[in-house]
Amino acid sequence: MKAPQWRELKAKHIRAGRQKVQGVVLHDTAGSGTHNDTLYLVNPGDGRIVSVDFTVERDGSIWKLNPNLSQFFCLHAGRATKFKGLINSQVTRATIGIEICQHVKLSLSPAYTTAQVKSVAQLCAWLTGEFKLTTSDITTHRQIITDGSRSDPRQFPFEGGGGFWSYYWQALGKGKEHAVSEVMAKTPDLEKPKLTHNVAAGDTLSKIAKKYYGKASLWPRIQKANALKGTVIIPGQVLVIPQKS
Ligand SMILES: [Zn+2]
Repeated sequence: MKAPQWRELKAKHIRAGRQKVQGVVLHDTAGSGTHNDTLYLVNPGDGRIVSVDFTVERDGSIWKLNPNLSQFFCLHAGRATKFKGLINSQVTRATIGIEICQHVKLSLSPAYTTAQVKSVAQLCAWLTGEFKLTTSDITTHRQIITDGSRSDPRQFPFEGGGGFWSYYWQALGKGKEHAVSEVMAKTPDLEKPKLTHNVAAGDTLSKIAKKYYGKASLWPRIQKANALKGTVIIPGQVLVIPQKS
């Protein structure tokens, strides 16, 4: 398919050494929700070393900040991330990041405009073809974070009519063949909020496993999901409780 229209600006913090693109990671900026978020990612005024391949603004405009997607990578998901066996900085080397402009307090209404959702979907549809990806290669910062510290893109509408996936299939000319229910079956985790447990004094992994699964012996499941080296947990720590085995 034809590439969607975009405008270009060059991010300050791009890096050489791109690895084969294996996925797309969606984020929200948690900034002002305006063009200023794009400008921040071009050249962060506070000195943070971050960048992203694309931004999508509320009017649907797409900004390409990486001048060569096959040659350079951007620094959008390099900390506490895991995707397809890649970890941390390997993730950014092998993924394309899209920051969807959004206010830090989600105070805009609607949270995402139709033009914005459509542009994100069209961009992802094009990237899918360009880099020989599948729908399961389109992921979110929330899904690949290992320490629970990110939940973006917050409230982004994936499902339903007017959702990301409906526009995605439309962009690929396959809208009719993909009923929404079918699409939902393919992306079961995308919008499910993660179940978490706040560690209290006296908690052990076994106790927590007993509480959520009814079986203390299932504690390794929690250990694994949180990438814990041993079994030590600290009061106040937030643990992800996986809902599937
Ligand atoms: Zn993010």
